[in-house]
Amino acid sequence: TKKKLIAGNWKMNGGLAANEALLRALLAGLGQPSADVAVCAPAPYLAQLQGLLAGGPIGWGAQDLSAHEQGAYTGEVSAAMLKDFGCRYAIVGHSERRQYHGETDATVAAKAQRALAAGITPIVCVGETLVEREAEQTEAVVKRQLAAVIHAVAHCTSEIVVAYEPVWAIGTGQTATPEQAQQVHAVLRAQLAAATHQAERVHILYGGSMNAANAASLLAQPDIDGGLIGGASLKAPDFLRIIAAAH
Ligand code: 13P
Repeated sequence: TKKKLIAGNWKMNGGLAANEALLRALLAGLGQPSADVAVCAPAPYLAQLQGLLAGGPIGWGAQDLSAHEQGAYTGEVSAAMLKDFGCRYAIVGHSERRQYHGETDATVAAKAQRALAAGITPIVCVGETLVEREAEQTEAVVKRQLAAVIHAVAHCTSEIVVAYEPVWAIGTGQTATPEQAQQVHAVLRAQLAAATHQAERVHILYGGSMNAANAASLLAQPDIDGGLIGGASLKAPDFLRIIAAAH
């Protein structure tokens, strides 16, 4: 079976001094992790991550990228720029970007395509809101979100990472149960399998209030291949315990 992937999403947190302290503590405590490990930082800190993490066991990535290749797009950061700073990953379509920054399925698909074209693995986020779950729309929503990306990336489908992040579980302390998460992950796996013969290779991460206490039971599910961790990735002991739970 493939290695699990534990990725931190720092969101809009951190600073030069805090980042360095966190990364040094992670490097000191990591040992020989049985999982792949990455952190996704705000764009201004990617050079710092490259300086501190290059050649080591922790990969790094961005939290977003532009849907455009280059040009007159003030404030945007391109895939090629992320590649310059050694990014292996870029989160795309996080629910916070869909909710607060108007990202549509089409935008997210274009971003995933840009990432792949630059040699960056997109971590494609999908997930339903509480209203959608209560209306029994969960499967329809996540399938619609993933379908847009699969359609855009076509034969590269096996090269994406998918993150199932129920919106109601993000930052709320209300984690999906392992059974709830597994059920959606199985749906996503089947959808991938209809598009690629290598669906088993694709990492499907769970995200949403994953922490040191609940990580092991989530990661034990057959279709949960890792985690995308927000709050708990900002504290070295917590993030290290989640990494240790992934084997
Ligand atoms: P929390 O772990 O803080 O709930 O955030 C999850 C998330 O949104 C990761 O992308």
